[in-house]
Amino acid sequence: MIPVAEPDLSGNELEYVTDCVRTEWVSSLGKYVGAFEHAVAERCARRHAISVCNGTAALHLALAVLGIGPGDEVIVPSLTFVATANAVRYAGATPVFVDAEPDYWQLDAGALEALITPNTRAIIPVDLYGHPVDMDAIDAVARRHDLWVIEDAAEAHGAEYKGRPCGGLGHISCFSFYGNKVITTGEGGMVLTDDDGWAERARFLRDHAMSPTERYYHPEIGFNYRLTNIQAALGLAQVERLEHLVAIKRRNAAQYIRRLADVPGITVAPEAVWAKNVYWMFSILVEPEYPLSRDALMAALRQHGVDTRPFFRAIHTMPCHPCEDRLPVAEDLAARGINLPSSTKLTEAQIDEICDHIVDWGETRRLRRVGDPRPCVKAVGEEAR
Ligand SMILES: *Cc1c(COP(=O)(O)O)cnc(C)c1O
Repeated sequence: MIPVAEPDLSGNELEYVTDCVRTEWVSSLGKYVGAFEHAVAERCARRHAISVCNGTAALHLALAVLGIGPGDEVIVPSLTFVATANAVRYAGATPVFVDAEPDYWQLDAGALEALITPNTRAIIPVDLYGHPVDMDAIDAVARRHDLWVIEDAAEAHGAEYKGRPCGGLGHISCFSFYGNKVITTGEGGMVLTDDDGWAERARFLRDHAMSPTERYYHPEIGFNYRLTNIQAALGLAQVERLEHLVAIKRRNAAQYIRRLADVPGITVAPEAVWAKNVYWMFSILVEPEYPLSRDALMAALRQHGVDTRPFFRAIHTMPCHPCEDRLPVAEDLAARGINLPSSTKLTEAQIDEICDHIVDWGETRRLRRVGDPRPCVKAVGEEAR
């Protein structure tokens, strides 16, 4: 099976992790934690980076630092991984869902203003699938209404918005280093900001809100959101290779685009002129004119040894975040999107093989449909359109 994602740990990862074990610095003290934070902060042109145990904790910590809690509303895109909205609930606040725009599949900045109420405190834009959001448009709305902006850059390590690194946008930005992200620590996350006070507060809350001057004195309830030295060692080795990994992802994406851009009924992942997309997941949309439905194409690929993922389900349509609103663009993208294999270990031949299937099934089924109403390929698991 060609996997959708796999980590590439072929640099200094083993050496650094081995160093942690040899020296017995395996918990959350140790030189790699600071070195990893420093490397990520530098890469994102941020003053401060605070490592945490996962990306969801990073988002929750960012909200806690801003004092967001019960009674507050936070605007989040509906088309994202569920963690973006869950973190808002962890803080006791209410997520308000905004639709996507059809061009780059990101949060629709034009739809923000209508959602703002006297209780709105923040917006969490997500750089979905490795493409940056249009942050200037979001910032303009946030400034007008005095809102905080927390960038969820979990999927966009190495991406750029108008030449600025993702993970360095908004008032506070957050990364995840989960195993399938562009770079990984197994599990891990990071909070970044230029504000000294927020950075200090994030470090304080991350470590049980223990007084920096009096050990075991806790003026309030904090969290244990620390990252371990072992995870940070892995992370440092990964950051060293970020440019290399991003270059491979972009090269793979270019090959997919060359092969698939002209296939009738297939729309390939976009890249705005102002964007550097890292194609965390290389994605396509299956349009109505493609002879197979989205689910039938995924099933057929699976039968030929190619693993894929559907787009995230629009969060507002799920019981975990019940919501009566209809957000047509997010719902439509969610129903039509596929993440194709996006590992940096893919070979040129594998990408060609995947594309051959998509091209061939597009053509043979279309031809057959003209003269013969019966499907020529047994629909795999699902009915063809
Ligand atoms: C992966 C991801 C997260 C959560 O990260 P974890 O490390 O799994 O907690 C949050 N937001 C987005 C957009 C993600 O893709």
